[in-house]
Amino acid sequence: MELANLTWPEAKEAIARAKVALLPVGSTEQHGPHLPLGTDHLTATWIAREAARRGDFLLLPTVSVGVSPHHRQFWGTLWVEPEVLMAYVMGIARSLAYHGLRKMVFVNGHGGNTPALTDAARRLRDEGIFAFVYVWWRAAEEEIRKALEDGGGHAGEMEASVVWHIAPELVRPEKFPEAAAQAAPAWGKRVHGVEVSYDTIDFAAVGCVGAPTNASPEKGKAILEAAVDKLLQFGKWLAEAPPGDLSPKPHRP
Ligand SMILES: [Zn+2]
Repeated sequence: MELANLTWPEAKEAIARAKVALLPVGSTEQHGPHLPLGTDHLTATWIAREAARRGDFLLLPTVSVGVSPHHRQFWGTLWVEPEVLMAYVMGIARSLAYHGLRKMVFVNGHGGNTPALTDAARRLRDEGIFAFVYVWWRAAEEEIRKALEDGGGHAGEMEASVVWHIAPELVRPEKFPEAAAQAAPAWGKRVHGVEVSYDTIDFAAVGCVGAPTNASPEKGKAILEAAVDKLLQFGKWLAEAPPGDLSPKPHRP
C-alpha cells in the first residue's frame, strides 16, 4: 500500500491494517560519470516498495535529499544538514503516530544518513514510537559479498549493478572505463592512521570508490532480492514485536 496513492478514508483502513510503515530515505548526490544522482533514493524506494507489496506494509513517500555535503564539489549534488534530516523524519514519524501507527522502518539508501537516522530513531523511542534504521547493503552483506567480484564502494560494482536492474536507461556503461580508470581503491584518505579527508573529491577525482567494470543487471537483481527479503523478514518481526519489548528498559534498582 502506497500512502500517497490513497484517499484519506482509504488511508484510515490502510493504517489500521499495516502494523508497520516503511520510509525510504536516500540522497541526490554524484555517483560518478556513469550513474544518476538519484541512485540512492531510487534504490531505497525500489527495495521499500517491493517489501511493502510483499509484506502488506505501508509505503511512505521517499525522502530524496539527505546528508551529502561531502559530495558538494560535484555538480548537482544536493544536501541538508543532519539536524534537518533528523527533524524531518521525526516529523513524519510523529504524524504517523498521531494516526495510530507507531512502528516504522527507515529504509536507508545512503551511508551519510545513517548517524542522523539512528539518532532520530533513538529519540523517537523515548516517545513510544518505534523506528529502526534498515541499511540495505549491511542487512544483505553476506549475499552481496557472494554476488559480487569486486565489492561495494561508492558508484562501484554494487551500485552500478543495482541501478542497472532498477532503471537500465539511467546507466551509462560507455562511461565505465572513465570511472574505473580514476576510481579510488577505498573510502577516505588516512595519514598516520588519522582520517584527513572531509570531501569525496579529496580521494576520488571522478567520485567513484571501486570500479563498476564487472557490474551487471543480473548481479543487481540478486542483490536487490536479498535486500528485499531481509526487509520483509525484519518487517514481519517488527509487526509481531510487543511494544513492551521495544521500549527502553526501566532504570535498574
Ligand atoms: Zn550511493
